[in-house]
Amino acid sequence: MSDDLPLPPISADIQRLAAEAGFDLAGVAGVADTPEHAFFPRWLAEGYGGEMKYLEGRDDAGELKRASLASAAPWARSVVVCALNYNTARPYSTHAGNSTQGWISRYAWGKRDYHNVVLEKMRVLEAHLLALCEQQQMAAPRTWCYVDTGPVIERIFAKYAGIGWIGKNTCVLNERLGSWLFLGVMLTSLELAPGLPPADRCGSCTRCLDTCPTNAFTAPYQLDATKCISYLTIEKRGAIPQELRAGVGRQVFGCDICQDVCPWNREAPLASAPEFAARPQLVNPDLEWLARMGVDEFRQAFRGSPVKRARYNGLRRNVVLAMGNSGDERFGGILHELSRDEDEVVAEHARWALERLKSREA
Ligand code: SF4
Ligand code: SF4
Repeated sequence: MSDDLPLPPISADIQRLAAEAGFDLAGVAGVADTPEHAFFPRWLAEGYGGEMKYLEGRDDAGELKRASLASAAPWARSVVVCALNYNTARPYSTHAGNSTQGWISRYAWGKRDYHNVVLEKMRVLEAHLLALCEQQQMAAPRTWCYVDTGPVIERIFAKYAGIGWIGKNTCVLNERLGSWLFLGVMLTSLELAPGLPPADRCGSCTRCLDTCPTNAFTAPYQLDATKCISYLTIEKRGAIPQELRAGVGRQVFGCDICQDVCPWNREAPLASAPEFAARPQLVNPDLEWLARMGVDEFRQAFRGSPVKRARYNGLRRNVVLAMGNSGDERFGGILHELSRDEDEVVAEHARWALERLKSREA
């Protein structure tokens, strides 16, 4: 936008309103399609989205909703993107506990599901925005807030709103806060002044690409989600492909490795939102505790937690895999028990884990 033109009303207020709602960062993106949007249908066509069928939602004309806002929300004129830091004090997954412990992704350590926490703050922002419009005697704009559930690719709009660049590990990276960021989005019919995408500061670094244990990156900035441990341990139902099991290591829910090795996260400040304070049991969780958990204890332990998304038997499948990858022969007994589990997927993974323990002994 030219310096000579006045900013559309409200534009200068967005960051203040977002900060008052509790966000660490906020910005505005335009609604035009971007090169990243053009890449999305090709990425899907390659099969890199795996079983995440919700990514393939189409409008009445058969167009992919996530490939263009013109299809998903033709009334929208601006996209407000907010970010909330969820960084916790160590540890890093790259130094994860001992052989009896697994790894749950950092974003799931808190007491509450981040979707709810971020959406609540987005609703506060929305209410403040509408109040300001009323104060300025503007017509009430249309707004639509969501966190991960809407037909937009949040990362792309975060980039164009100036929140951060999209790193080679495909995460949004902010120079000051790193990549431990939850994103919330509000589409609005208000015309607001868009920000500028920040420069890509990855430079010649390739740490994330080099460290990924399942080689999930097909190229810098390109992820084959079907090989990513986050997908395998959370989204994938049924058996985890044999060739990827060893690479999953002791990750039982998600994976933080390509963010833990990123130099931009090394000095990232800690989150101030109390909802994201880690529950100690979930940091390097005890594998036997997870494996012996009954369904009621699972529901209780993970009430309101994103871990529920893996489902009870999905988490147990991941846990027996982690036991096999631990190299710790003390897990032989429980794996024998679980190799006869009534859930055939858990039982088959337990048999695989026993074989893996044996092969590491040899
Ligand atoms: S989250 Fe883990 S498995 Fe997925 S790309 Fe990053 S390092 Fe690889
Ligand atoms: S590890 Fe290096 S290449 Fe990967 S996202 Fe971070 S800075 Fe970029």
